[in-house]
Formats: sequence, structure tokens, C-alpha cells
Amino acid sequence: MTQFTEKIPQTLPDIKTFNKEELTRWFEEKGIQAYRTSQVMRWIYLKQVESFDDMTDLSIKNRQLLTENFSFSMLETRQVESSTDGSQKYLFELQDGNTIETVLIPEKTHYTLCISTQVGCAMGCRFCMTAKSGLIRNLTQAEIVNQVIRVLKDVTGEKRLTNIVLMGMGEPLANYENVIRAIGILTDNDSGLQFSTRRVTLSTSGIISRFEALGRDTKINLAISLNATENHTRSMLMPVNRKYPIEDLIDACARYQLAPRNKITFEYILIQGVNDSTADAHRLAKLLRPVKAKINLIPFNEHPGSEFKRPAESATLKFQAVLHEKGYTAIIRHSKGLDISAACGQLSAKKIIS
Ligand code: SAH
Ligand code: SF4
Repeated sequence: MTQFTEKIPQTLPDIKTFNKEELTRWFEEKGIQAYRTSQVMRWIYLKQVESFDDMTDLSIKNRQLLTENFSFSMLETRQVESSTDGSQKYLFELQDGNTIETVLIPEKTHYTLCISTQVGCAMGCRFCMTAKSGLIRNLTQAEIVNQVIRVLKDVTGEKRLTNIVLMGMGEPLANYENVIRAIGILTDNDSGLQFSTRRVTLSTSGIISRFEALGRDTKINLAISLNATENHTRSMLMPVNRKYPIEDLIDACARYQLAPRNKITFEYILIQGVNDSTADAHRLAKLLRPVKAKINLIPFNEHPGSEFKRPAESATLKFQAVLHEKGYTAIIRHSKGLDISAACGQLSAKKIIS
């Protein structure tokens, strides 16, 4: 008779899904002094070690205790593609075989990292590649933070990675709790990753039911994917508009608890013949009056199978000129990484089958 003596491996909870308060409580229950929490977190997030054994100023007993009670997650890098403009797209495999994409973008003085918050997205925006797969699942707090940890290892040299945008795959406000917890770690100045809240931006399609909590829970920057000035156009492009129409969205933005001297960024994809007329530009200027706003104009990035077209450069410049005339800061953002499908709206979820 066959004897089944092998122990079924138990999955231990990932230490990176705990915040400082929760870890402190756990430590205290085990009779370990509270200050050890900061010590352990600094190893994880500041020194970015890859196992409990590397935490050399902890006693062997404590290292063992941690090893017996927690796992220590890392992302598997499946592919890194470099664009001719210097940006790099990472394809990461998660423990369940799903994949996500993260894009490192070089700027003049620093790097910006565009991170994902979900595998796929449920919001169904008609112009967006990520929408095609639908929502597969939310990312955990650890999976969001691990994108940053992994890329930081590659950023050497003088230019530092200082800015983070939650603008990759997924709708951050549809994964609210994990996103807020991840932001907490990213901006924790004591034992987290120490990013300045002024250099972290969350972009949303406009789930306004979360705005009040967001303004209360974090001081990071807010960006809104607006993309149209009339409800029928916005509802056609972004189904979320049927639930939260433009006037409600603008009203929620006007009431949003901004950090002093801060503005909300409105992202506006310019699509030929859909939302790029000068009448649209005038409507946009009027619409944003009640809000402390700045505008990013993003010429549409075409992708395989996309039904929309990018407007001519002249139309984009005309649109911008109207906004300037009305006193707005309006920047034309030509997405980086177009040649490697790393640009806005080109990220997609693939499952690795091996
Ligand atoms: N879900 C969030 C954040 C991720 S989408 C949101 O919608 O804001 C990131 C940005 O890419 C959004 O501003 C979106 O409007 C833009 N985007 C999506 N598809 C695009 C495309 N094909 N061309 C240009 N920008 C696009
Ligand atoms: Fe989701 Fe943003 Fe793409 Fe819309 S634009 S489908 S909200 S990722």
C-alpha cells in the first residue's frame, strides 16, 4: 500500500500584504518589541532584500519565526522590451500565471513608473486595449508595490525613479482598498518606499462614489480621464459615464479635497472627428471653470483593431490654443513607448501558458 507521508504545503500569508499597524500587532502578540516592525519593513522596502535570512540585524530566532509564518512574494520578470525613446515595458508574471505590464518612462531629470492595479479592467472604455480582456482580477497590495520594487533594482545611475503614476492596466478606484494600502507603503517616509505624495498620481475613469474617501485617505495627485465634453460622446466612449455623467463628475471634482496649491489633471484623448473640434475645446474650457484644473491632451494611440484615428497635428495644436487662450495649462502628451505597445491604452493582459 502506498503511504502518503508528504505534507501538503500550506501557503503562508505574504508579509507584503500587511501594513505597519497589522505587523506591529502581530509582533506584539509574539512578544517582539514594536520597533522591530520598522526594522523589518525597512529591509523589505528600503533595502529590498529577497528573504528573511537577509535581515541580518534580526536574531536568528526572529528570522526563523518570520520564515515559519510568512511568505515573501516577488514578481517573475517574463520580458523587458526597450523602446527607441528609452522607455521600457516590463511583463511580469503573477503567482497564478496571470501577467501584468509596468512601464518605466525616462524624463529629463528623473524616471516615472506607470504601474497597474488590476489584471485587465471592467470599465469597457471603447478606445482602450486593456478593456478588451475584461476584468480578470484585482492586484493585491503586494503585487502593486512589487512592480516598483522590481523596477527600482534596474534604475541605477544619476537619474532617479521619483514619480509614480497609477495609469497602467486597471481602474484603481475599483480596487480601492488594496490601492490605498499600496499607496500607504509607497509614500511611508519612515519604513516604506519614501515616495513624495506630490509625485504619485492616481488616474481614474471617474468613479466618483470613491472621491470623498480618496481625498480623506491620501494626499496624492488625482487625474481624471475625461475624454469628452458631452454626455452622449462620453457615454459612447466610456460606459462609466452612464452611471456618473459629466456634470456629476465635475461637481465631485470641484468638491474634491485637494492638497494646498494642487490641481486636478484632466486627461483628454483627442480622437479624430469624435471629440477634437474647436467647439469641444471651448466646451471643455467652460466645463472646467469650477475646478482647479490642468489639462493633458493625449493624441489617440492607435492599436490593432482600434476603430478610432489620431487627429492631425494641426487639429491638436488648435485645440490646445483655445485652452491656452482661456487661461489653462494644457500640455500635449505624446505617449512614450509606442513602438513596443507600452503607450497609454495599449497595455493588455495575457496569460502565460507554459
Ligand atoms: N483606468 C484609469 C487608469 C488607467 S488608463 C483611467 O482610465 O484613468 C490610463 C490612461 O490611458 C487614461 O487616461 C486613458 O484615457 C488613456 N488611454 C487609454 N487608451 C488610450 C489610447 N488608445 N490612446 C491614448 N490614451 C489612452
Ligand atoms: Fe479601464 Fe482606464 Fe482602460 Fe477605461 S481607460 S478600460 S478605465 S484602464
